[in-house]
Amino acid sequence: MDDLDRAQELEMESRNAAIANQIKKQGKTTLSHCQDCGDAIPLRRQKMGGVNRCVECQTYFEQAQRKFK
Ligand SMILES: [Zn+2]
Repeated sequence: MDDLDRAQELEMESRNAAIANQIKKQGKTTLSHCQDCGDAIPLRRQKMGGVNRCVECQTYFEQAQRKFK
């Protein structure tokens, strides 16, 4: 009985994680122009989804984030 409960719990957890992931993906906005500098974001990059900065600004942004951690 305990094993069954645990299995159900695990299933719930993975399902919730999958749903949370989906929401995260949908919540990500993709812009045609960089939100920081206004440069056009290459279509190839837009297709990745959730892209809102050009390569340069994204690199800069990620480096800045790393510094804060
Ligand atoms: Zn930019």
